[in-house]
Amino acid sequence: MKTEQVDVLVIGAGPAGTVAASIIHQAGYKVKIVEKMKFPRFVIGESLLPRSMDALNEAGFIDAIKAKGFQEKFGAKFVKGEALCDFTFKEQYTPGWTWTWQVTRADFDKTLADTVESMGVPVAYETTVTDIRFNGSDSVTTVEDKDGNKSTIEARFIVDGSGYGRVIPRLFNLEKNSNLQPRKALFAHAVDTRRSMADEPNRITAVVHKKGVWIWIIPFSTGVTSLGFVGDPEFFAQYPGTDEEVYRALLEAEPYTRERFRDVELVFEPRVLQSWSATTDKFYGDGFVLTGNVTEFLDPIFSSGVTLACVSSQTAAKLVIKKLRGEEVDWEKEYMEPTLQGVNTFRSYVMAWYEGTLDTIFFKKDADPVIKGQICSVLAGYVWDMSNPFVKNHDTALKRLARTIELTEKLKSSSEIE
Ligand code: FAD
Repeated sequence: MKTEQVDVLVIGAGPAGTVAASIIHQAGYKVKIVEKMKFPRFVIGESLLPRSMDALNEAGFIDAIKAKGFQEKFGAKFVKGEALCDFTFKEQYTPGWTWTWQVTRADFDKTLADTVESMGVPVAYETTVTDIRFNGSDSVTTVEDKDGNKSTIEARFIVDGSGYGRVIPRLFNLEKNSNLQPRKALFAHAVDTRRSMADEPNRITAVVHKKGVWIWIIPFSTGVTSLGFVGDPEFFAQYPGTDEEVYRALLEAEPYTRERFRDVELVFEPRVLQSWSATTDKFYGDGFVLTGNVTEFLDPIFSSGVTLACVSSQTAAKLVIKKLRGEEVDWEKEYMEPTLQGVNTFRSYVMAWYEGTLDTIFFKKDADPVIKGQICSVLAGYVWDMSNPFVKNHDTALKRLARTIELTEKLKSSSEIE
């Protein structure tokens, strides 16, 4: 069996894998990526957050992405009936990037993978990891190509950026259920000829359809728009028919989408994804680190997935370099804690969204601009800025604010009656 040696083996050529590979390669180490699929390949996760830009920049990807002409994104809009809440990232509290992109992931991920390859990192496509043996922090990984040929890769360190593949957690029984309830998404890409009806395309729109059910609208620069419904699996079960029939019935059922997307041409038949939330106890071990979706993926609302993938890989890559240089790394303090800090902040916002707490905050008239800027920072992905009270106290601040708004409104309406 053929064997090769590298300093770092990266599993997966998505944003997590390519960001890590590029940063480690730039430090002078021999890196190889193995990727199960042939690129371009479809993956969902099309709306980025400004915080991802710093990681993409450090990986040296920004110019290549810019050259692709993806749709620029400057904010996020939330809609419920007639009520509207528009966040513009320029108003965010934390200093940093104030814009990003909305991307077709097949093209975006291929751009990242081609760029890292052009820097000198080989990417073995259609090559699947089937086994890993650790000997201390050194490892021997068995991979299989599309023709069934097996070979091995000896590495001093492994970065697992295998996304929903969850290679190391699956091989070593590290899988753990998420504490979020299972949800389902039904989505497609649509030729959006009536786009000018809406104040778009430079932001994502999330429409509250019913409690716990919402719609994403993510316009691309090509005139095509990604449109997806997310909710409890039981919600979808009420609608009979094929996925396309259900999808079209849902577009018709929501006033916000009815007019703009009636009889819309779909680029592909609607697809279903469900029960995507999963995690593991530890995001690292002797000789490996997990990044991106392999750590934990929460939920599509707030578009946190690619940003957490890029930032966890940016952090992990620097620690891998430190480790390869023979320096001590405290993985718990330097990786697990900051990664969880980001994930847990978004978790509080995801829970508040489905509980309805964020409806109270988002759709309040005359919102306090300081508070709005602080929440805007979280929505831009700045979930590590502990000077922001809506990051530092993420688990309590939203509930407290919603309660204050409700009480004030109750007092106002009772004084109006008197
Ligand atoms: P991936 O992009 O999944 O890349 C992992 C790669 O590893 C894949 O190419 C895969 O082929 C490869 N791989 C897997 N197994 C193996 C193996 N055994 N050997 C070799 N290679 C392997 N995120 C956002 O930021 N914005 C959004 O708007 C958004 N919307 C979403 C909507 C839905 C319905 C869902 C479910 C998720 C959404 N996400 C969104 C999340 C987003 O899809 C992920 O967070 C993101 O793709 C994670 O990137 P990654 O690099 O970790 O993994």
